[in-house]
Amino acid sequence: MGVILVTGGAGYIGSHVVKELLKKGYKVVVLDNLQKGHKKAVLTPYFENVDLKEKNLLKGVFEKYEIDAIMHFAALSTVGESMREPFKYYENNILGGLNLLELMKDHNIKYFIFSSTAAVYGEPQVIPIPEDHPKNPTNVYGSSKLMFEEILNWYDRIYGIKYVSLRYFNAAGADPEGELGEDHRPETHLIPIVLKTALGQREYVEIYGTDYPTPDGTCIRDYIHVVDLAEAHILALEALFDGMSSEIFNLGNERGYSVREVISIAEKVVGQKIPVKEGQRRPGDPAVLIASSNKIKKNLKWKPKFNDLETMISTAWNWMKKHPFGYSE
Ligand code: UDP
Repeated sequence: MGVILVTGGAGYIGSHVVKELLKKGYKVVVLDNLQKGHKKAVLTPYFENVDLKEKNLLKGVFEKYEIDAIMHFAALSTVGESMREPFKYYENNILGGLNLLELMKDHNIKYFIFSSTAAVYGEPQVIPIPEDHPKNPTNVYGSSKLMFEEILNWYDRIYGIKYVSLRYFNAAGADPEGELGEDHRPETHLIPIVLKTALGQREYVEIYGTDYPTPDGTCIRDYIHVVDLAEAHILALEALFDGMSSEIFNLGNERGYSVREVISIAEKVVGQKIPVKEGQRRPGDPAVLIASSNKIKKNLKWKPKFNDLETMISTAWNWMKKHPFGYSE
C-alpha cells in the first residue's frame, strides 16, 4: 500500500477522501494551510501545516515522506470572490499546483489526481454536458482550473506524470457515519445555507434569480454526494496505478434539481417550512448544469450509492444538527 499526499485534506471534499483512503489501508499524509480547512477534520496522524506557495517548506514534506501519489484538493473555490480577487485565485490555484508538479518531477512521483470543476465549461451548449464540450469559463475560478488542466497535459507529455482530472458538479451531503461534514466560512453553498436557516442561524434563504429559462425560473444543478465523489477519486487513483493513461472525467448524477426543488426536499428532511426571499441573479451563474457521467461509469465502473437528493440532504442535516457550529466547539 502506498503513501498518498492529500493537499487540502482538512477541507470538505479532501477530508472525506482521506477517510475513504484510510479505510482502504493507504498511508495518508495531509497537507493544508488551514486557511479554510479544519484541523479536526483531519483523520490521519500525518499532518503538515504548509502552504503550497512556500516551495521550500513544501520540499521538506517531499523529503520527509516516500510519496507515491498526490491528490490535490487545496485551492480557492468561491466563484464570486474569484472575480473580485483574480490574482489570489491564479496565485493559489496555478502557482501552488505548479510547485507540487515541480517537486513531483524532482522526486519521480508519477500519479496525480486533480480536483477540477464543471465551471470549466461555462454556459452549456448541450445538456447533459460531456467531457469534450467546449470550454468557456465564465469566471476566474473556472479559468484557473482549466489552465491547470492544460499544465497537467504538458507535465504528462514532458515528464510522464499521469493524471486524472475530475470535474465536479455540485458536491453535497456528509459522511453517513457522522464524523465529517461541510463547514465553509463564510458559507456560500445552497444546501448548508438552507439547513442553517432551518436551524435558525439565518433568517431566510435568498433565491438567486427566479427568471431563468427553467420550469420554475430558478437555476438547476446536478448534486453529487461527497462519499460518491470520494469513491471516484480512489477508483481513478487505482486505475492510474494499474497503468491507465491520463484522463478527464465529469462527476455528477446526470439529474438536475432547481433551487426551489432543493429547498422543498430540504423542508421534507427537516420537517419544517424554510423561509425564502426571491433575489437577483448571481453573476456568472449558468441556468442549467447537468453532467454526463457516462465516461467514468463506463471506464472506471463508478457507481454512485447516494444519488438521490433526499439522502444527500439527510446526511448533511444529521451532521449539522450534531455540529450546529461546524468544527468549532
Ligand atoms: N443559490 C441560491 N441561494 C444561495 C446560494 C446558492 O439561490 O444562498 C443558488 C445558486 O445560484 C446556484 C445553486 O443555488 O444556482 C447552487 O449554488 P452553490 O453556491 O451551492 O453551488 P455552485 O453551483 O455555485 O457551485
